[in-house]
Amino acid sequence: MAAKLILLDQDGVLADFEQGVRQRWQLTYQQPLPLPERRHFYLREDMAPQYHQQLTQIYSSKGFFASLPPMNQGIQAARRLLEAGHDVRICTSPIDDYHYCVSEKFDWVARYLGDEWLNRIILAKDKTWIRGDILIDDKPMISGSLKPQWQHWICDQPYNRNATNIHRVNWQKPESWSELLQ
Ligand SMILES: [Mg+2]
Repeated sequence: MAAKLILLDQDGVLADFEQGVRQRWQLTYQQPLPLPERRHFYLREDMAPQYHQQLTQIYSSKGFFASLPPMNQGIQAARRLLEAGHDVRICTSPIDDYHYCVSEKFDWVARYLGDEWLNRIILAKDKTWIRGDILIDDKPMISGSLKPQWQHWICDQPYNRNATNIHRVNWQKPESWSELLQ
């Protein structure tokens, strides 16, 4: 495949956001995350309303984004895509309470991918403004004010399996993305 501009989402693609929430919830509230099953992209939509405020507090807390564990095989995949000759960028939307989130997203990239990847971060609240050939993102519907130039490939997660007719990437299933390495 000719060299592409590949945009990688950060949370749910490189960083294991969900596992991070579970860990911090346990640490903070001394009990497991009260989440019966995952069906919606936003965790809060799968949780009873009485927990929403606690969930927001987790997202906004100091150290949350910096301490997210890496997704299994995600870091290796990002490196391999770059080595294959693609121009790989990390395209991520900070949460509205950005105070810790923004700087810790940079910390996270430096820690797991290295300082040289800091130049590859693109922060965008609206990803339709960003140029690229392929955006690999776990969010099922990515909308914004422009018509996207990229093709959306979905990063497989339990909460986005309803999305069909879309190329599905699972880092642990090489056949789902190996065409990018040829
Ligand atoms: Mg995401």
